[in-house]
Amino acid sequence: MFDVYKVREDFPVLKEVTYLDSAATSQKPLPVVAAMDEYFTKYCGSYGRGAHRLSRVTTERYEDAREAVAGFFNVPSRGIVFTRNTTESINMVALGTEWRKGDHVITTVVEHHSNLLPWIRLREKGVEVTVVDSDDRGVVSPDAVEKVVTDKTRLIAINHVSNFFGAAQDIRAVAKIAKKHNVRYLVDVAQSAGEMPLDLGALGCDFACIPGHKGLLGPQGTGILYMKEPEQLRPVFVGGGTVHTVTTGSFTFDDIPSRFEYGTPNIPGVIGLGRGVEYVKALGVRDIEAHVNALARDCARRLAEIPHVEVYGPEERTSLVSFNVENVNPHDVAMILDETKKICVRSGQHCAQTALARLHITGSARASFACYSAKEEVDALVNAVAQIAKSFS
Ligand code: PMP
Repeated sequence: MFDVYKVREDFPVLKEVTYLDSAATSQKPLPVVAAMDEYFTKYCGSYGRGAHRLSRVTTERYEDAREAVAGFFNVPSRGIVFTRNTTESINMVALGTEWRKGDHVITTVVEHHSNLLPWIRLREKGVEVTVVDSDDRGVVSPDAVEKVVTDKTRLIAINHVSNFFGAAQDIRAVAKIAKKHNVRYLVDVAQSAGEMPLDLGALGCDFACIPGHKGLLGPQGTGILYMKEPEQLRPVFVGGGTVHTVTTGSFTFDDIPSRFEYGTPNIPGVIGLGRGVEYVKALGVRDIEAHVNALARDCARRLAEIPHVEVYGPEERTSLVSFNVENVNPHDVAMILDETKKICVRSGQHCAQTALARLHITGSARASFACYSAKEEVDALVNAVAQIAKSFS
């Protein structure tokens, strides 16, 4: 039985503030902090290089984390590479693919900048990029995607959940379209990993770009790139840890996935992320999903009932709610919430300027929820926003 009050005991900071910014980055449970603490105090060594005991334990724990992540997403561990964040994962695909002039990429207007700019920049190499529109709730129709596929299309890059609208895309339908047309499919699961069931093996996507520091409850500075066929991607960075044999004239790449993990990685971060994945698994992703969606839907419905408050996104939203109070700058809304009630929400453009432009707005406030968010926090937010709306109307 999912007991949020028990979960909250693992997040001491929640006694101090109402944290409603988990879509930006999540709070970390004590077992994740303990796993990283253990690394530093008990066996801190380098990964994969060296025969001594600390290095051996470190390498074992790092690989345990890879296995945990692979198992969680139901994919082989050789396709799992640890990165710094979702943004790095997406760029590794954009920069690691050998593009030909005239190749075509499909993305959408409701992407985070991290899943838009790497593709837009490919235009410099002669790649054509189509940006598919969404409806007013941020939902992209798979038919609209299929309509723009041509015989030059090589990649479809679409989010699972929009970080502004909270709308979930029909990723299964997109995956089918990609398969039918023999096009690669990259899914940005920054807002769904750990909060929605994700069987990447069954989905059949070619790439998934995953943050470690949000729903998976790992530390900041961790991310994951999943590749179905890793040999098709060229490592963007080379150097220590990526090669097998080196002469002054040439080198051969190391095995997969090592060839993609350059230099000394974020070892404590990856170990913490592995523990975060186990923590999420023990709570149960389906229960987390039901919990965060219920909070977000209740929050959206109640905010929308307040006069002079506008809420964006679909009714069947996932874990977040973007909103505006008429005549009040969203940064002021966020500041007042923080200063008067210690409520932390995000404000601004959410790195999603094209999504906001669709609605002819330049910013919003955003409340987002995680496995540790409680109903009382929704109550606190709704009451505080009602007060702000009243005093500015
Ligand atoms: N895509 C989406 C949908 C996001 O919400 C975010 C983060 N807000 C990103 C990509 C970028 O994630 P990261 O900070 O892990 O690079």
